[in-house]
Amino acid sequence: MNIEITIDKLAGHDQQGVIGKLYKQAGDDIVEGDVLFTIESGKGTMKYTSKYTGVMVSLNIDEGDIIKKNQVVGHIQGDESQCRKEEKVSKVDKKQSYSFGIHTPTKEEIHCDVLVIGGGPGGYVAAIRATQLGKKVVLVEKDKLGGTCLNYGCIPTKALVQSVSVLNHIKESSHYGFDISDFAIDFKKVMGRKDEVINQLVSGIQGLMENNNIRVITGEAVVKDDLTIGVKTKKLDVTINYHKMVLATGAVPIRIPISGSELCEVLTSKEVLELEEIPESMTVIGGGIIGMEIAFILNALGAEVSVVEYLPNILDCLDHDVSDVVRQSAIDKGIHIYDGAKAMSIKKTMNQKMITEINIKEESYLISSDIVLMAVGRKANLESLDYEKLGIKLNKKGNGIEIDEFMRTSNEHIYAIGDITNKIQLAHVASHQGMIAAEHIAKIEHPMRYDLIPSAIFTMPEVGSVGLSERQAEEMNQQVKVVKFPLMACGKAIAMNEPEGFVKLIIAQEDKTLLGGAIVGAHSTDLIATITQLIQDKVTVEEALKVVYAHPTLGESIHEALLMADDRGVHFG
Ligand SMILES: Cc1cc2nc3c(=O)[nH]c(=O)nc-3n(C[C@H](O)[C@H](O)[C@H](O)COP(=O)(O)OP(=O)(O)OC[C@H]3O[C@@H](n4cnc5c(N)ncnc54)[C@H](O)[C@@H]3O)c2cc1C
Repeated sequence: MNIEITIDKLAGHDQQGVIGKLYKQAGDDIVEGDVLFTIESGKGTMKYTSKYTGVMVSLNIDEGDIIKKNQVVGHIQGDESQCRKEEKVSKVDKKQSYSFGIHTPTKEEIHCDVLVIGGGPGGYVAAIRATQLGKKVVLVEKDKLGGTCLNYGCIPTKALVQSVSVLNHIKESSHYGFDISDFAIDFKKVMGRKDEVINQLVSGIQGLMENNNIRVITGEAVVKDDLTIGVKTKKLDVTINYHKMVLATGAVPIRIPISGSELCEVLTSKEVLELEEIPESMTVIGGGIIGMEIAFILNALGAEVSVVEYLPNILDCLDHDVSDVVRQSAIDKGIHIYDGAKAMSIKKTMNQKMITEINIKEESYLISSDIVLMAVGRKANLESLDYEKLGIKLNKKGNGIEIDEFMRTSNEHIYAIGDITNKIQLAHVASHQGMIAAEHIAKIEHPMRYDLIPSAIFTMPEVGSVGLSERQAEEMNQQVKVVKFPLMACGKAIAMNEPEGFVKLIIAQEDKTLLGGAIVGAHSTDLIATITQLIQDKVTVEEALKVVYAHPTLGESIHEALLMADDRGVHFG
């Protein structure tokens, strides 16, 4: 996307100014927040910071040039529409962007054993583990501790899932014997609660950093050379020398390059989680985990939701009998699912409606909505640091940092963890990789394995899955037995009025050990830990059946599925 660099603001009511110092030139990588140039006026020096991340393709000004308000002075080739964000720049941010007069940041030189860049679930966990192992640790975070997970991802979505779960119970209250026909949604409060949950958890992490004596520097880390990182803020000008560095700079949302994807009403998950009112309608491009979770949330809140998925099925990472339960539930709730459909373009009508053109089997269709959510995946944040300067290689596909099983990169001093490695983009993977990296720095060797990473999908109903799927077993010609215990045969699920779904187990024919499992249904994201442990410990069905499960619990469904695997199902099969 070609983005214009426009002089949208000048000091006070000034209509023109003079270009002071140029900090960037054509060809430079630009990260959102980078100072591009300064503008001088009678009122002082104003820094012009980039609102975009990308590459500067042109800059048509020189030091001393006079520029006018609204003048276009160059272009950035970027991939993220920031228009929503621009509207929401807080007063605090504005103050930071435009600094008048001269500030002299305090210079400081820091030496540490371990420098962690990025305070998400990868970075902050690595920092804590390294401190536990006796290292002096410094963590640099340019935004908020907790990273994507706490601020813009896992936690806000789950806080909203909880709110709409309460709402769904209210809607079904007559089934339980209550008459709550008169209720209203206070969306501001719903979002306010979400923010409270975030704030509570972020301040919890701040407390953990303090308790562990981890110095946290708020600012953007910039590579000076392969052993030195700089962080410059209004107050500080820090040079950090490290013995080992852990990179945990995360990932950013992808926008597919179709016409209209840069429109302000085309949002990523980050902006959707900051909506101020419930849209009447939303089109979701991408029926993967993030797209489907948000589709269910907004549908429950009353929006008309359409999901466009390019693959033949939504949640295509799952066995189709599992994803079909979610698909049917979505359809029953009124969500329109268009799978096997390619989004072609997005246009805006005169009355502010977004028209998404989709193609199904070479036929073209149009979907009208207030907003469009682009949920087509996230890419490693490879622009956030100068990895070449650090001497770090990318993986074969060039879409993540290359690491070994201990998270070592091609530079012996540097480790990389989390979404930036593009192994599996999940918070618990980032945290586990963080522990492994910190331990390896302290000479403890625990190699990472990726075959037993559970996944938790917070649709309605939820899905938990781990290990081998039935489809993967077929592709690998693995001889397996597959059993499915339906939750409608589980007393607790009936009592909860949540009989949708099943427990599915994949068992090796040869030695009767568990290879994989998926649960679709209530609380499945919590229950999947039991199956993960059984697989990790290579437990046979016979051994697993010695465990007594409490009654009445949803966990009994795992027991019942194990009984079925041993051809002695009691309540089913
Ligand atoms: C809507 C949504 C829902 C999700 N739900 C789930 C879920 O339910 N379960 C789950 O497991 N995962 C979920 N995820 C994925 C999860 O959020 C990520 O996998 C996880 O946050 C990755 O952790 P990380 O530490 O690698 O990176 P991040 O959490 O992205 O943290 C990276 C940090 O690095 C900082 N940074 C980057 N560059 C610099 C620099 N140069 N200097 C200083 N700081 C820098 C960033 O500001 C950021 O805070 C979800 C994601 C989204 C978007």
